[in-house]
Amino acid sequence: MSYDTINILHLEQFKSKIELLETRLERNVLIIELKFYKQQILCPICGSAHIRFLEYKYKKIIHSISTHEKSVIRWHMRRYQCKLCKKTFSESNPLSDSNENVSLYTKMSILNYLKDYNHTFTSAAHHYYVSSQTVINIFDRYVEAKRRKLPKVINIDEVFISRAHKYKYACVLYDFMHRKIIDVLPTRHKRYLIDYFARIPKTELSSVEVVVMDMWQTYRDVIKLCIPHAKIAVDSFHLIKTLNEIIKRIRIDTMNLYKINKSAPVHDDMYYYMLKKFHYFFVKNYEDIYDGKIRIQKLHAYWHKSDILHYLLSVNDDLKDAYLLKERYREFNLTASYEMCDDELNQLIYLFRNHKLAGMRSFGRTLNNWKNEIKNSFLVYDKRRISNGPIESVNNKIKTVIKTSNGIKSYNRLRNKIMYAINKDIPIKNK
Ligand SMILES: [Zn+2]
Repeated sequence: MSYDTINILHLEQFKSKIELLETRLERNVLIIELKFYKQQILCPICGSAHIRFLEYKYKKIIHSISTHEKSVIRWHMRRYQCKLCKKTFSESNPLSDSNENVSLYTKMSILNYLKDYNHTFTSAAHHYYVSSQTVINIFDRYVEAKRRKLPKVINIDEVFISRAHKYKYACVLYDFMHRKIIDVLPTRHKRYLIDYFARIPKTELSSVEVVVMDMWQTYRDVIKLCIPHAKIAVDSFHLIKTLNEIIKRIRIDTMNLYKINKSAPVHDDMYYYMLKKFHYFFVKNYEDIYDGKIRIQKLHAYWHKSDILHYLLSVNDDLKDAYLLKERYREFNLTASYEMCDDELNQLIYLFRNHKLAGMRSFGRTLNNWKNEIKNSFLVYDKRRISNGPIESVNNKIKTVIKTSNGIKSYNRLRNKIMYAINKDIPIKNK
């Protein structure tokens, strides 16, 4: 045998101990015959050095060095008997844990493979020629994701985990600055969250400066109670989304006024057509809309976006007012700062709350209810405005893990898999 063979077979750590190494292919399985040099050995029961060799036993250990073919080590294991106490025993096994038939190398390969959040226990089993249950046993034994220390800026959000678990939504805590999952909790229920934070030492809680959240009352209540000194910020994108939904509703209501319907008080086919066709003008950032000629099929004409907008806003004054106020809020959201936002925010709240349309007034109440949290959303950490943006992309990865792990029944295992595959820095325990 050559050292190359040893390396190819990933047995280099045993290099100096190998007495016999032969390989052969047997029905598409690579069989690796392996024997180590005889070691000085004492009886594990009485400690006597008077032992005699009995026989070889052949132990099969799955040793997956390639994903193209199964490979198995056939280890020539020596059996001994103690001359003193008559007990029989085997030489120690450096390849795998005593009662397991998977090599340590294979186990570490599997654990490495599972670091990709697209990879599942089933695909690992397939790749490494072991059963899914073996993969799960290895995972459970070596992976235990601990909660990360609470950082300065925490993102909090929920993710749908399925009906298979006790609760529908898990709650994700995320470290905004270090871009790591802090923890994944099985529920976002208030009682659970309060108990959770209550178990965290005061000194650790005291390091938290800001918690970023959607406008979810439970989160605000919990943080006010458990981390009272922390600032609470709402995710500004979430607010814009809420406002866009309202504008969309107003556009549709307006549009329907002009639907061709003989019983309707007024109807103008063209208004209806334009409001329907160019719906995105009301929610998309104007600067992101195509800047060239846009075809208007019904008129057999091409218009610039400025003409289209002008037309859309000429349809109805209420819609126009709502649109312009929405744009003013959007501008505020883009340009204001923590130090310089109070006046405009107060002004906006006033305008929304006194708007003619109920939808706009309800947004005004939302703004008023979350006023401090909106101001805090302008805080900047590491030169980035705080937001829940980073957690949204992590949630997509989490959803992939959940979707591909419909076999994971245990919440704890699911949590470990999520943190292990996404954080990438969870250590292997019991190594
Ligand atoms: Zn003995």
